[in-house]
Amino acid sequence: MKLINKSLSRMRATVCALLVLSLGFLFARAYVPANVDVPAKPVHGIAVANIDRSVQPGDDFYHYANGAWIKKTVIPPDRPGVGVFTALSDLTNKRTAGIIDEAAKAKAPAGSSTAKIADLYNSYMDEAGIEAKGLAPLKPHLDAIAAIKDKHELAHALGETLRADVDALNNTNFHTLNLFGLWVAPGFNDSEHYAAYLLQGGLALPDREYYLSDAASMRDARTKYLAHVATMLKLAGFTDTDARAKRIFDLEHAIAEKHTTLAENDDIHKANNAWKPADFEAKAPGLEWAEYFRGASLSQQKEFTVWQPTAFTAESALVASEPLETWKDWLAFHLIEDYADVLPKAVADEDFAFFGKTLFGTPQRRPRWQRGVFLVDRWLGDAVGKIYAERYFPPEAKAKAQEMVANITAAFRKRVEALPWMAAATKAEALEKLKSLYVGIGYPEHWHDYSAYEVKPGDAFGNLWRGGLFEYHREVGRLGAQVDREEWSMSPQTVNAVNLPLQNGLNFPAAILQPPFFDPKAPDAVNYGAIGTVIGHEISHTFDSEGSAFDSKGRVRNWWTESDLEHFNAATAKLAAQYDTYKPFPDLSINGKQTLAENIADVAGVAASYDGYRAANGGKPGPEQQGFTGDQQFFIAFAQDYGSKTRDAALRAQVMGDSHSPGQYRAATVRNIDAWYDAFKVKPGQKLYLAPQDRVRIW
Ligand SMILES: [Zn+2]
Repeated sequence: MKLINKSLSRMRATVCALLVLSLGFLFARAYVPANVDVPAKPVHGIAVANIDRSVQPGDDFYHYANGAWIKKTVIPPDRPGVGVFTALSDLTNKRTAGIIDEAAKAKAPAGSSTAKIADLYNSYMDEAGIEAKGLAPLKPHLDAIAAIKDKHELAHALGETLRADVDALNNTNFHTLNLFGLWVAPGFNDSEHYAAYLLQGGLALPDREYYLSDAASMRDARTKYLAHVATMLKLAGFTDTDARAKRIFDLEHAIAEKHTTLAENDDIHKANNAWKPADFEAKAPGLEWAEYFRGASLSQQKEFTVWQPTAFTAESALVASEPLETWKDWLAFHLIEDYADVLPKAVADEDFAFFGKTLFGTPQRRPRWQRGVFLVDRWLGDAVGKIYAERYFPPEAKAKAQEMVANITAAFRKRVEALPWMAAATKAEALEKLKSLYVGIGYPEHWHDYSAYEVKPGDAFGNLWRGGLFEYHREVGRLGAQVDREEWSMSPQTVNAVNLPLQNGLNFPAAILQPPFFDPKAPDAVNYGAIGTVIGHEISHTFDSEGSAFDSKGRVRNWWTESDLEHFNAATAKLAAQYDTYKPFPDLSINGKQTLAENIADVAGVAASYDGYRAANGGKPGPEQQGFTGDQQFFIAFAQDYGSKTRDAALRAQVMGDSHSPGQYRAATVRNIDAWYDAFKVKPGQKLYLAPQDRVRIW
């Protein structure tokens, strides 16, 4: 589980949109609004100018810490939202763009990583070239779909679409346009070797709720989606597009009805279903599975973990029951949709008009060069990241971050040792888990090898097509191989952090270890409040509702006693109920269960980081700065991590489809921490006030 989720939007073969800070900032990375004051001399501390002193901290801590910034910030037209840390993401993007630009000018030998970076980026930037090719790159693929003559060939074609484009536990992405998605990760039952996880798929809209919800905004989105499908088909040269669109929509609707929800997807025990190839025929008849696996180059695979068995049964049955022509149209539409960004402008514009404007309320596209940077990050992330880390992540920053990790881990250890409710044997395993935790700081120990990825000048479509296949075959190729516990799942230039439960590891990329999250020159109170709570958040995932399913070796094993679990469930149910009361819209509340693991991580992260900060100061509060006590700085720095402004449509999308709560509610975590009450003299009657017995304490 990562700190913040990426775009809810489809994980496109084209531009991978990184979502920053739980914000519903779909497609957004960063932006410094022109009207935000940038101090002439940077202050190494909290952003005092962002504070709104007209708000009482005890009533609304989020608006107290960020209100002045929110008031003067205008969301730029090409973003669904922006955040306080946006300047950091912008800076990271510019640096990455600089690295790509140098590569483009270097005239490096063909086949080298540098040449691949240049060719991939330039092929995407060559709009005239893409326009001149028209639909030609798509044609052989559409012809192949048109030539499918029966369900046997359909099964093979569906198998050929399988990609390694989902991720159930690390980058938590449950969405694929293809019928199913593959995730290769350490096995649930044999964490020493890589296993094949199969996840449900087949929807073009971000989540089943878009098809099923009765909310007026969703009904409206569906009407517009139907028109969008027809338009895309027309642009790709199809006839009878309204009728085809309706059949595609109805098929997706039928799939959506059988998809499991995001909240259910979080339950490891429901996901731990080992199926042998023969089980697919028996438990999910309909699709010709042997042919499907042949198409997917997986005929040799002896076992799969099927995450959502009921969805597999239903989707397979739909392959049998629905007409061949409907499935062929569905395949064609999903292909066009997936590659829209590297097809002629009319196709790309229509795609953005629906997915950008209608669905997320963003009036304009990001500039092409920025999308080009995302694209290179997506397909050649480590090639760029290696240069990024060498250039922008000094050893002093690494040393300071390591020291913080050590202090916060020690704080966690003390908290676990002191838990009155946890059995001794459970504690011993929890402490073992902490001891063997791999904490990656800045950049990975080994880099991905891109030598088998063929990037051709002037072939944007082909480069993305081969990128998806290259990644897929790399993942399939390591099935059964020994697990590398130090492997990373994020590139160094990613402003995010992640917990890898099956590896018992954490990654803190170089890009998040910068101001305002992390500033070696800032007081400890600020660093522990800003990045320390993030570190604590990720450590907490090791022990939360999901982490507690894995032992110190990353195996699925029940190492908790019945009574430990009862206590944990009671405490966390209280937290879920707390979040259920938050209502971003009159007709839409936060789903306390869907966001539970992330909310637990926030509570635990703040608590452990607070201890770590006090320990770093010899048990005392840190010194006053800019008129704020050390403790006040700690909590304000935390709340400023989540300062953001999001368009309504994007915020709705986040509430429905993200396992993270929106920033405003993440900042409200502080109401569960006793020290926050003392720091801001919060009194009964204030809106965030909770009586001591109502504050949720988990660790
Ligand atoms: Zn998280």
